[in-house]
Amino acid sequence: MKKAKRFLSFLLAIMTLLPLYACSGIIESTDEFQKNMNQSDYYRLHKVCETEDGYYFLYGGSKAYYYEKETDKVTLLCTKPDCAHNDETCDGYISGGVLWETGGRLYYTNSALLEEQGRLVDHGERIYSAALDGTRRKVVQDLEFEPSGSSTYVDPILHRGYVYFFYSGVLYRAPLGGKIKKTAEMLWGEEIEKETGNFHIYDKIPVGNSFTLWADGDFVYFMVNVLQPDSTYKDTLFAFNTQESGDGERVKQVWQTPDEDEVGEWTRTGVSVTKWYVTDGYIYFYLSGGDFWRCGLESGEYEKLAETHEKTVYGKAIFSDEYMCLLNSVPEDKSLPGFEVSGSYSNFDVLSLVGGDTFYVYTLDGELVTELSLSDVYEEIDGLTNVEPIFCSDGEIFFVAESEHATGETGTVQDGFLPFGGVKTYDYTLYRVDIKTGEIKQLINWHRE
Ligand SMILES: [Zn+2]
Repeated sequence: MKKAKRFLSFLLAIMTLLPLYACSGIIESTDEFQKNMNQSDYYRLHKVCETEDGYYFLYGGSKAYYYEKETDKVTLLCTKPDCAHNDETCDGYISGGVLWETGGRLYYTNSALLEEQGRLVDHGERIYSAALDGTRRKVVQDLEFEPSGSSTYVDPILHRGYVYFFYSGVLYRAPLGGKIKKTAEMLWGEEIEKETGNFHIYDKIPVGNSFTLWADGDFVYFMVNVLQPDSTYKDTLFAFNTQESGDGERVKQVWQTPDEDEVGEWTRTGVSVTKWYVTDGYIYFYLSGGDFWRCGLESGEYEKLAETHEKTVYGKAIFSDEYMCLLNSVPEDKSLPGFEVSGSYSNFDVLSLVGGDTFYVYTLDGELVTELSLSDVYEEIDGLTNVEPIFCSDGEIFFVAESEHATGETGTVQDGFLPFGGVKTYDYTLYRVDIKTGEIKQLINWHRE
């Protein structure tokens, strides 16, 4: 009896200790949005998340890999013997719209069209989670109030335990794992026809292409292309202050692509910034053909940080919490092997086919830290056609080198056409370069027929 009583009080103690969250499915997380990991727009590798010891990333949109910082090793998340790693039975198969790690699990989104009792049921976009080895997967949360099959999709973000997501043109947030019908809070936009999934934001602000979400400290941001009275579009940044509660407009416009006369002369005019980064109340941005700039979101004051057009006419920029990195678009060294390979094309094609060979690395104050030559990569890889920066973190830049090879076969007729130039194979090689030492390391190579 005494024993039973003790057990009962033990049970009660456990029950009171259990967070109230336990039954609601809410997953506690204090992790910040990973700004450095949200810089790649390279279609083969743009979902990346960082942990203390490494990075998880999706290659080709559906294969999950882990890179271990200490050993420089890249491994596919699948340990199944005899697995062909090419369908959903593979532990490394994650077809995700996002990739996050929090509390020792991976999170990703996918639209769920499931066969239930002999018919296909659309559950809409959902968040799933998996153990760090890709196994033990489960459904975490719906991201659509009514599965609508709406084609407009915005990558949600995870910041301090909340998932920020757009549904039907309206910005919501909900605690990670919480049922959205019960826990989602509307932050911006007009909720008109939630059921149909129609975008009604057009009534409020005429928007162009998709939204991009971002977070830094107490603020959650989103960038959207807004139609102007002169029928051009301008990138426009809105901010939600997570510390302000209650009534009133909690989302404010904080920035818009400046006009030429606000910032002096753009080398090339344009209305979209090619890459941007928000941190500590500033937006940092790069305009292709222009320079690196920042603007205080409170003050509205612009500052030109680096005259990069002097180094490279066009370029590809990525930012991190420490650096602004710019890859030139045409090799400085015209004698590089990659340059010769495409030399048989017209001069214009040569310029567009060959990727850059030098990273220019600046501090966030615009001071040039170093120039990193990639000429070793050109020596190492035959037929190099393009270099794509992926992200910069922890003092290193990760990038992919693309190369193209003719197999020498004439090829088979496809759709009535003989492929121009015979059969080609493609290689994608992931590298990292150390900003301090300039040391370049090849990490993994993918081959595609
Ligand atoms: Zn596998």
